[in-house]
Amino acid sequence: MVSRKQVCVIGAGVSGLVAAKAFAAHGHKVSVVEKASDLGGVWNPARSYPDVQTQSPKDLYRYTDKAMPDSFPEWPTGMQVHAYLADYARDHRLDCLIRFNTSVTAMNRRADGKPGWTLDVMTPEGASSENCDFVAICTGQFSDPQTLGLPGEGTFRAQGGEIMHSSSYNDASLAKGRRVVVLGGSKSATDIAVSAVKSGASEVTLVYREPVWRIPYFIGGLVNFKRILYIRAQEQMFSSWGMGALARLARMIAKPLVWTNWRGLESVLKMQFKLDKCKMLPETRIEDGINCSVPIATPGFFPMVADARIKAIRGTFDHCEGKTIVMSNGERVIADVAVLAIGYKLGVPFLPETHRAKLVDADGQYRLYRQIANPDLPDLGFVGFNSSFCTVLCAEMAANWLVRYADRELAHQPSEREMRDNIAMMLHFRRMERPAAGVYGGLCVAPYHYKHFDELLADIGAAKRGRNRLVEMFTPPDADAYAQFLASAPTYKAAA
Ligand SMILES: Cc1cc2nc3c(=O)[nH]c(=O)nc-3n(C[C@H](O)[C@H](O)[C@H](O)COP(=O)(O)OP(=O)(O)OC[C@H]3O[C@@H](n4cnc5c(N)ncnc54)[C@H](O)[C@@H]3O)c2cc1C
Repeated sequence: MVSRKQVCVIGAGVSGLVAAKAFAAHGHKVSVVEKASDLGGVWNPARSYPDVQTQSPKDLYRYTDKAMPDSFPEWPTGMQVHAYLADYARDHRLDCLIRFNTSVTAMNRRADGKPGWTLDVMTPEGASSENCDFVAICTGQFSDPQTLGLPGEGTFRAQGGEIMHSSSYNDASLAKGRRVVVLGGSKSATDIAVSAVKSGASEVTLVYREPVWRIPYFIGGLVNFKRILYIRAQEQMFSSWGMGALARLARMIAKPLVWTNWRGLESVLKMQFKLDKCKMLPETRIEDGINCSVPIATPGFFPMVADARIKAIRGTFDHCEGKTIVMSNGERVIADVAVLAIGYKLGVPFLPETHRAKLVDADGQYRLYRQIANPDLPDLGFVGFNSSFCTVLCAEMAANWLVRYADRELAHQPSEREMRDNIAMMLHFRRMERPAAGVYGGLCVAPYHYKHFDELLADIGAAKRGRNRLVEMFTPPDADAYAQFLASAPTYKAAA
């Protein structure tokens, strides 16, 4: 019999909500702590820049038991995603489990010798600590903004200039009539540059390190990219981990076909975005960089670069001289607002160094079995660290896996030895065979969604009944089908 645990879920974003739901559904007592005053994580309106919308189509960015409303567009806005998450929390009575404005500042093994952890938390009322039997860390990869110490930024601010991280650029009026410079090449950077143009900025400059391949919402202007890039057939264009001799031979034979596939896609993108005219033709092969960092092209971005509404400069910020930002190539741009779309610090800052050393190798690679658990950190797991282009489904799969792992109810409960061997194999794959899989500390399952889900479902003991292999080969993951797969897993409930 599984005994009821006190489970603490840290974070109330996409991942924390579904983790809370999974643990509560299996009979555990759940408490969610969230440092912000609202749920949603990156979709919390207080943290969203104007015009933010998903990169993933709505049927790929949803929980298995709740479709996004028909009234939402194919790529919902940030506000719509937030409303969807708030609804989901209400539907499953998760809202009453969340304690807002509560930040975890440290966690340590319990001093009373019992399994579990003691969390140090900070609230507006002060600091306190609490014990729990199991912790689900759902803090995502976008909580701690990167900073940039820019020489001379004091003089920039003194003259009325504003410098802010992209997560603080949440008011379109900031741009109106002003000279805006955006640093970065991610989707956030191009979204903000386009938004600034539309909001009436007097000048918009984008400063980026190198041109990267960007994927349009519609490839060739016609086909929704999910029908080309999210399908199992495309996934099989990549070499992956654990391939046997036969699979490697098949890959070798198919090499010319695979090569043609990628060169064809590059040609389409080159023409569609007029990359030569924009002087933004990437120097790398598209297949070498496909991972979670591949941006979707912001509609309007390339046309605005082509007609100079956005001035694109290759380089980075070097220093400020008054209101002039001097670039690494010597170019000088006078600005009123500088937006740093430079990403976030990856990490679990509240985990003490002794534990963090077990979780993260010196080169930043995470040691997580299935991107969820570490054999040297018991009574603890991570949800949403298996990020991708369909993170909601990834988080839900991870949550369903984690609760069973915590209760030793996986159909295939891995031994510590098995977990260590698998972690070592995956680290080798990322370091030696596919460096692109090492982005974000190796916490990105794209482009291997199907393979990752297959592994989790097999561990859980879920059957893929009614699955049509051929259909699955040419269609993106279907959330409704995954609801059925998960429902086929053996059920149980923890008791007091
Ligand atoms: C602008 C933007 C667009 C995106 N679009 C897509 C997309 O289209 N498709 C896709 O798959 N992914 C997308 N992503 C990735 C996105 O991060 C995930 O899809 C998903 O929202 C992550 O959810 P999460 O719950 O894991 O993390 P988050 O949303 O980051 O939530 C983590 C929560 O933990 C809280 N927290 C952190 N530290 C603490 C602490 N110490 N104590 C208490 N609480 C804490 C935070 O306040 C936050 O609420 C996007 C990301 C961004 C930034």
